[in-house]
Formats: sequence, C-alpha cells, structure tokens
Amino acid sequence: QQEIERKLRFAPATTTDQQRIEVVANIGNVADAQKAAEAGAEGVGLLRTEFLFLGRDSAPDEDEQFEVYRDIIQAMQQQPIIIRTLDIGGDKEVAYLNLPKEANPFLGIRGVRLCFEHPELFIPQLRAIYRAAAYGPVSIMFPMIATLEDWEKASVIAEQVRQELDAPVVPMGIMVEVPSAVMLAEHLAKQVAFFSIGTNDLTQYTLAMDRGHPQLARQADSVHPAVLAMIARTVEAANKEGKWVGVCGGLASDTLGASILAGMGVKELSVSIPSVATIKAHIRASSLTDMQEIARKALQCRNAAEVRAL
Ligand code: PEP
Ligand code: MG
Repeated sequence: QQEIERKLRFAPATTTDQQRIEVVANIGNVADAQKAAEAGAEGVGLLRTEFLFLGRDSAPDEDEQFEVYRDIIQAMQQQPIIIRTLDIGGDKEVAYLNLPKEANPFLGIRGVRLCFEHPELFIPQLRAIYRAAAYGPVSIMFPMIATLEDWEKASVIAEQVRQELDAPVVPMGIMVEVPSAVMLAEHLAKQVAFFSIGTNDLTQYTLAMDRGHPQLARQADSVHPAVLAMIARTVEAANKEGKWVGVCGGLASDTLGASILAGMGVKELSVSIPSVATIKAHIRASSLTDMQEIARKALQCRNAAEVRAL
C-alpha cells in the first residue's frame, strides 16, 4: 500500500485522455525544496527569493545566495527550477533596507522597479543565480513586469552579468501579473522565453482589490471572469509565439482553477507544497476535453459565483 502511494506521488499527472500537466511547486527556501521534492513536485515553478531577505538584520550577500540557490537545485535533483528575482515592496517589507514610505506601496517601487533602483541588490543576486546555474536546469524570472521597457532593462542587465561571469545562457521569462503586461502580451511573447502568470497580483490589479484586504477577500476571487479573460489572452499570446506558459499564482492550487487553467492550454501548474498531491490527483481524475468545456463556460460567466457553480 505504502509503495503504491509512493509511486503515485512521484508519477507524472496525466489526464484520463492522456494530456500531461506538469505539477511543480512554489517555494521560498532550502527546507521547502526538500519538502517539495518529497511531495512529488516535478520542479519549482516559483522560487520566491525575497524570503531569503526576510526575518534577518541585513541582506544575504552573493556567496550566501549562491549557496542557497545551489542547495535548492541539488535538493530538487536536476528537475527544472525557476528562480524569481527579488520581489520586495508591496506587502513584502524588508525593514533593514530603510525604503521610503509610499502612499500606495502596491503601485510604487516594488519588484523589478525596486531592483532597478538598487543595483547593489540586483547585481549580486543575478551573479549568484548564474553561478548556481552550473549545478542544474535554472531559469530566471522577473516579477512585476509592466512594460516592454521593464523587460528590456531587466534582461539587458542580466545579460551583462552573465557575460562578466562567462556563464551559460539560461532561459529568461517574466511574471504576467500586471494588466498592462497582459495587454502587451503579444509583444512580450516575441521577446521572452516564457510567461508565468501570477494570479494573486493579477487579481488584485484587475479588480482593484488589495490582495490582503480582509473585507475584500471574498470578492477578490481569481476565478472572476474578468481575471480569467486576462489569463486566456495571455495564454493565447504565448501559444501564438510558441512560448511556454505556466501559472504560479494561487489559482493553480485550487481544483476548479486548475481545471480552468489546464482547459485554457496551460501545461504547468506551480502550486503550494501541500497542494502538489491534490492537484496531481485532480488532473488524473479529469479529462482535458471536460476541462476545456469548463474553461469555455467559465469565460462566459458574469461573475465569480457563476464560475464557482460550474
Ligand atoms: C502572484 O502574484 O500571483 C505570485 C505568484 O507572486 P506573489 O504571490 O509572490 O506576489
Ligand atoms: Mg506577485
């Protein structure tokens, strides 16, 4: 019995009509990587590197970051890992950086915008990632890309760092989590290696509802058709350019959400560690044809309640 359970945990998730959906994990540190590997994750779709900066008195330097990234790569045993560059700001505050207070932190200097302002954080991180990439299959992902210029700037800086280190090229992609990135997806898809849709921020910015607001929590549902339309447009733009598209926001960890996403053509779901087994089981119990039908119907609904009723 235990042996069967173990085999199932590590087996890929394939729908009843033989479509493989990769189920990978969202992690924040080395301990998470070990747990994710043990849970049967087929890789890491989102390493939230800002967690290395929290709960301490100073920023980790290049060497310390390199060691963490290398250990995570080794814990995942040669499975693919997407390392997201620092996404500080918004709800992720780091006291020792003494960043100026902002009236609207979610609309202020966060994600890549903060990295552009602080090369002393961005450059050592990129160096650490490129050094760690020698140990396994790594991709680099930039958070909070809102414009083509954001992407161009971030990728040029990363390429300079790579050349200085004479490191191999690694795939570079972006989080699609800002509505402007969705509206520009056709252009962005021509330039990036991949998209990973961040449904947490995409929901917040699409519905103009603070993701941490207790009174808005019920309404800020990522299955809202307005959010689903954003996702569908992004997936279409990626597919048109033959680019890979995954989802790393909370919607991928929700069984209905996973069905809708797979039905829209998403091939990789990056989920919370406890959801790896649940989402794999859900995919195995579903057919792609049914999920396509659910996605089609969901996109025609008028509100999240109608989608949840499907
Ligand atoms: C997201 O916004 O959906 C996401 C995955 O990033 P984070 O939750 O770290 O902002
Ligand atoms: Mg986000």
